[in-house]
Amino acid sequence: VDGQVSNLNVSATPALESYRAQIRQWLAETEIPEVPLDVDERFEVRRAWQKRLDEAGWISVDWPSEYGGHDLSALHQVAVYEELIRAGAPLPVTVSNLVVVGPTLLAWGTEQQKREFLPKLPGGDVIFCQGFSEPNAGSDLASLTTSAERVGDDFVVRGQKVWTSYAHRADFCAVLARTNPAAPPHKGISYLLIDMKSAGVTIRRLEQITGNSEFSEVFFDDVRVPATNLVGPVDEGWKVAMHSLGNERSRIILQRRAGAQIAFDEIVQTVREHVATTGIQLPPTLVRRFGEVHTMLAALDGQVRTIVARLANDAPRSGLDSLDKLVLTEVEQEVFALAYDLLGPYRLAGGSKPFGLEPERWIHDYFYARSWSISGGTTQVQRNVVAERVLGLPRT
Ligand SMILES: Cc1cc2nc3c(=O)[nH]c(=O)nc-3n(C[C@H](O)[C@H](O)[C@H](O)COP(=O)(O)OP(=O)(O)OC[C@H]3O[C@@H](n4cnc5c(N)ncnc54)[C@H](O)[C@@H]3O)c2cc1C
Repeated sequence: VDGQVSNLNVSATPALESYRAQIRQWLAETEIPEVPLDVDERFEVRRAWQKRLDEAGWISVDWPSEYGGHDLSALHQVAVYEELIRAGAPLPVTVSNLVVVGPTLLAWGTEQQKREFLPKLPGGDVIFCQGFSEPNAGSDLASLTTSAERVGDDFVVRGQKVWTSYAHRADFCAVLARTNPAAPPHKGISYLLIDMKSAGVTIRRLEQITGNSEFSEVFFDDVRVPATNLVGPVDEGWKVAMHSLGNERSRIILQRRAGAQIAFDEIVQTVREHVATTGIQLPPTLVRRFGEVHTMLAALDGQVRTIVARLANDAPRSGLDSLDKLVLTEVEQEVFALAYDLLGPYRLAGGSKPFGLEPERWIHDYFYARSWSISGGTTQVQRNVVAERVLGLPRT
């Protein structure tokens, strides 16, 4: 691995290049914040940064301008993420706003919901979390038991959610609840927006292997939710949720690919400097790993191009979003496994910095990356989906 490692340039047209030049100029004139490791401090720093990015017009650029966007394309958004990487700048923090709930409201929300919520999402003025998973409903999401009973102008919600990312920071939660208990599992579910300050909402934070507490258990005890907060038709929330999850799996790559590239470039830079100053050579097996990861990142670039084309045509998902997520997860995990393996057994010894790498940071990121084959639908389940819906293999 030598010279330029970044393979940044998803597509170069004169219009896009001029847009790119504007972002670069803005970034060159803007103070870029350092991101701390602690999950709460990190959130605050990245939230403030996201607000600045939004004020400058670099967030949700492919949303309609009437709802807080800029009427541009997903390619423009990818260009923004790429320029952020190039400048070593953090990415926006509220993935749930930008990738999950925002696109869901654009597709399924009422006009009132779009006008009320969408303009507040890009700058993180309102923060959403996603309340789908329950203690007994993860991969088998349709077995969820949280209920929503219609009483007058409200739904009364009872039940428990788990693994709710950033619930402790959220203003609203997008919740799946059963509105028709007599219907088959995939029917009779509705998608509701619940104000986290409502009476009866309790949030209990969970600790992760990294030592941080990013997600929570959320309890709903007779929480009253105005019926105007129903997204999509009543009892048809499964369709809304599947659209939302499919969108999340594809769209998240546009941003997370950028994060993987930032990390890889940093590993290369650090190791290169270390080798140059100490003369210590990398074993050939590790040199080969650099080449492999570089190639995987280039393949992920190809995947980004296909996603952008699909998003532009609003093409049916039919399992391709599961393929997107599988590719992303594998590449991301390989990037951080490379850092972890470079640390080698020295990661156990305090005070050492193998190949110049900071163990605390890279061990944290390696463990965090393990969660990506679970969140948003596990790798095993996504493989089943690809086998059945993309390859047409028989159902198991
Ligand atoms: C970092 C992180 C953030 C998350 N954030 C959120 C969030 O904000 N909101 C939210 O609602 N949820 C969130 N989740 C939860 C996530 O969606 C679930 O963990 C995931 O869907 C898996 O469900 P489960 O944990 O119940 O595991 P299970 O479904 O119990 O699966 C256990 C194991 O069995 C395997 N398995 C299950 N079914 C099959 C099958 N049919 N074929 C083959 N293997 C199978 C799985 O692959 C897995 O290895 C998050 C999870 C993580 C790790």
